[in-house]
Amino acid sequence: MCFQNRQQVVDAIRKTNAIVNSLQPEACEQPYGGMSMAAHCDGAVSAVDQIPQLNAAQGRLKQLQAVLEMFDKGTYGICQGCGERIPAKRLEVIPTASLCVDCKKKEEAPASRH
Ligand SMILES: [Zn+2]
Repeated sequence: MCFQNRQQVVDAIRKTNAIVNSLQPEACEQPYGGMSMAAHCDGAVSAVDQIPQLNAAQGRLKQLQAVLEMFDKGTYGICQGCGERIPAKRLEVIPTASLCVDCKKKEEAPASRH
């Protein structure tokens, strides 16, 4: 995914938040009071199946929040190495990319030059 403006990120965060909330087991406010966990909290037990999706959605949410932060700093889509725009294709794969492919390569292999 490649974002054109901050609003798109905010929308994506809102949507992802809704997914996280819908997957999250209901919080049990009441004390267990002698009941078994399963009897007390059916929702939480059946939601175990959804944990991989929940983790994925939470990971995505974190990524989107990082993207939003980059938007606020004005660094989203801009290479921090050379100041050039990072190609949209790269941003689609890594929305939080802060280096273009060239600078990333240089960063990964700094000892190859004299
Ligand atoms: Zn660069």
